[in-house]
Amino acid sequence: MDQNLEDLIRISRLFGSDPAFVIAGGGNTSYKNEEKIWIKASGISLATIDENGFVSLSREKLKGISRKQYSSDSLLREIEVKADLHEAIISPKELRPSVETSLHELIDYRYVVHTHPTKVNGVMCSNQAAKVCRELFGAQALFIPYTDPGYVLFKVVAEGIAKYKEANGSQPQLIFLENHGVFVGADTTSEVEMHYAELMASIESRLSQQLPGTERRSVTTVLTGKVETLHPGLAGFTALGITSPLIDLYTSDEEMFVKANKSFTPDDIVYCKAHYLYIPEQGGEEELLAATSARIAGYFDQYGYLPKVLALQNLGVVALEDSLKSARNVLDVYENILKISFFSENFGGPKFMSDDQIAFIDNWEVENYRRKIAKS
Ligand SMILES: [Zn+2]
Repeated sequence: MDQNLEDLIRISRLFGSDPAFVIAGGGNTSYKNEEKIWIKASGISLATIDENGFVSLSREKLKGISRKQYSSDSLLREIEVKADLHEAIISPKELRPSVETSLHELIDYRYVVHTHPTKVNGVMCSNQAAKVCRELFGAQALFIPYTDPGYVLFKVVAEGIAKYKEANGSQPQLIFLENHGVFVGADTTSEVEMHYAELMASIESRLSQQLPGTERRSVTTVLTGKVETLHPGLAGFTALGITSPLIDLYTSDEEMFVKANKSFTPDDIVYCKAHYLYIPEQGGEEELLAATSARIAGYFDQYGYLPKVLALQNLGVVALEDSLKSARNVLDVYENILKISFFSENFGGPKFMSDDQIAFIDNWEVENYRRKIAKS
């Protein structure tokens, strides 16, 4: 195998197997030469990726995407862009390149490692994301305010990179995306690692309070064995409950819970949906069952789908999913939301996605495809 691809696989596994950087199947990596770019396929996990997990594409054809005029209707446009992305694939045609392929192509550096690190998102999902990014990284980084993913984000990043290059003479090696994560680009993988180590250290220097413990205890409630009685749509579902000192903190009362009741990033929505349901403490088991099913019915009326995360006051968090594997992913991603919320307190507190931003993701076909793959 090509040494460059071996390096790409090594760095992909390095970051992919570290939960501080990658949770559930998130993040993606790429390597490019003059003609081709190799990028992680959608739905493949970085932790265990090998040469079969990458798709190679023609850079010339990808550049065509940025020059072309697409439909002004956002859903139609995403379908057209997706078709052109598929057209640019060299091999294998049956894998789907990461939804973030065109962003990787914009970055001139050979290696690009894109992740959603918890501490980075403690800044990026806070009320002071832009300000703190400027303070910590100055002209070293490009900051992109939240933009709907897909073609619009691609255009905004392209413009940001061009302006940065005009001002600084070279492309940025760090690109921070609000309510999303970071792209790090360099010509060698060791330089990518160095940039990551430095940026994590800068952010850590601004974290004042120690994160509460995350060692988990499993929680069995009356709900666990009676999921199907909560709502007809939950027939066959699994309820997996856990708690930890961190979870105890956020489920202690509703005032704390509002700091973690919505999604921070599009990935949160893919795994956990956008809204999380709080259930106040009840007098007994029957009351807990009744209160939970009433609140689930209310949630369903409001959003049109069932919740995946229940926060039970003074008990813990329960994931509702159709398999144990999916329920574990929900818990991992939701626990990460709690950590991000905790870290964001150093930067003016949590900033969730807005209702419009959430609605865009809920209607986005590309994310639905990822949801399907993540389950299989
Ligand atoms: Zn991403």
